[in-house]
Amino acid sequence: MDLKIAKELCLLEMEKAKVGKIWKFEWINKKHTFGYCSYARKSIALCIPYVLVNDEKTVLNTIRHEIAHAKCHKHGHNKYWKAWCVKLGAIPERLVWKDYVPVKKRLSKKEFIDYQNQTH
Ligand SMILES: [Zn+2]
Repeated sequence: MDLKIAKELCLLEMEKAKVGKIWKFEWINKKHTFGYCSYARKSIALCIPYVLVNDEKTVLNTIRHEIAHAKCHKHGHNKYWKAWCVKLGAIPERLVWKDYVPVKKRLSKKEFIDYQNQTH
């Protein structure tokens, strides 16, 4: 899906879940990670190569999956995390490769920066 729309969608979902004031949004460039939630950085991250090849429904599920992690620190993918997924409208399961289009390689550093700049 479109990166700019994905970023807006993520910020909107963060706002709705009331984490938008404390947590920030970040782009990442990884081969095996669609999204992540970092407590240390207080950030919800989406991976550009994954967003590019997946549809809005899948990206939105990933966003809500990560926000559920932000909502319950240190609960991994347990029942508390699952309850937050249900509340936020995410599938309460750990993402597995069959749920999304996989990525074969990361972007080059230049491509990553160029894509990031498109979403400012
Ligand atoms: Zn997870």
